[in-house]
Amino acid sequence: MNSLLDKIKEYINDVAYNVKNAFSLKNSLDKIIESEYKKAFESLHKYVIIEYIESNYKINYIKPKLEILEDEPSINGAYLQFVNEIIISKKSIERKIDSQFLNMSYNSIFLYPLYINERNIRKAITESFIRSVMFHEIWHSIDFSILHKLVKDSTIKDIDYFTISKNLELRASAFQVVIYYLVNGLHKDEKGYIASYANIPTCRNYIEEINELQNDEDKNKYVPYDLGFCYGNIIVAKYGPSLKENIYKIIDDIIHLDKERAIDVIKYYGDNPDKLLHD
Ligand SMILES: [Zn+2]
Repeated sequence: MNSLLDKIKEYINDVAYNVKNAFSLKNSLDKIIESEYKKAFESLHKYVIIEYIESNYKINYIKPKLEILEDEPSINGAYLQFVNEIIISKKSIERKIDSQFLNMSYNSIFLYPLYINERNIRKAITESFIRSVMFHEIWHSIDFSILHKLVKDSTIKDIDYFTISKNLELRASAFQVVIYYLVNGLHKDEKGYIASYANIPTCRNYIEEINELQNDEDKNKYVPYDLGFCYGNIIVAKYGPSLKENIYKIIDDIIHLDKERAIDVIKYYGDNPDKLLHD
């Protein structure tokens, strides 16, 4: 008697397992990561961003390789300078997408707009999340190219090794936000960049708490990320539809970005949001 019933149970389990698997991200995640890696570099070339930095700062940029990790839950992505590799962790991304709130920032709530034209919302969210992480890691690779250059020439256009190496996460996060808006075309109309206005009060409050967060050992670790998100957000709010026309000016600005200036700018526009449109 046990054989038929067991067989049925086994069959049901198999089907249930397969259905669950078919709808999970697991199968498609590799493809999405690879495609976002490719698309990220295509976009940067389309806007001539890497070429601009190479010629303006006389760096020799070598495109990093991509490595996909199966089982690293603690990071979404990372840039490994010694092997020039961007790593993206599937486990951590799956966990993020499965959680109820997809949040990029660490110490505050930060809104990221997203166009969903496809029926598959889960896929669209996954792609945009990976896209955003990818630009963050790519900026690290750009910063390290600049640092290499600075080892030979101690200053390039008023930037020094120390300023960059002290502000790596801040700079990568600021770039991440700006380029995310640009390549998704979210800067083009108000429906897209309105989120950057909504983030300004959050960011202004964040600056008030920053000293406290910096004294908190656990939270201090994440301060530069949120500061970078907020700084990038101010840039998006300030330029809106003219983000593209001003992108090289913005890139120069991020290359010269440090923590003190980021705090001053967020404070200034947080207190005078009307100036965003006039400065
Ligand atoms: Zn980083």
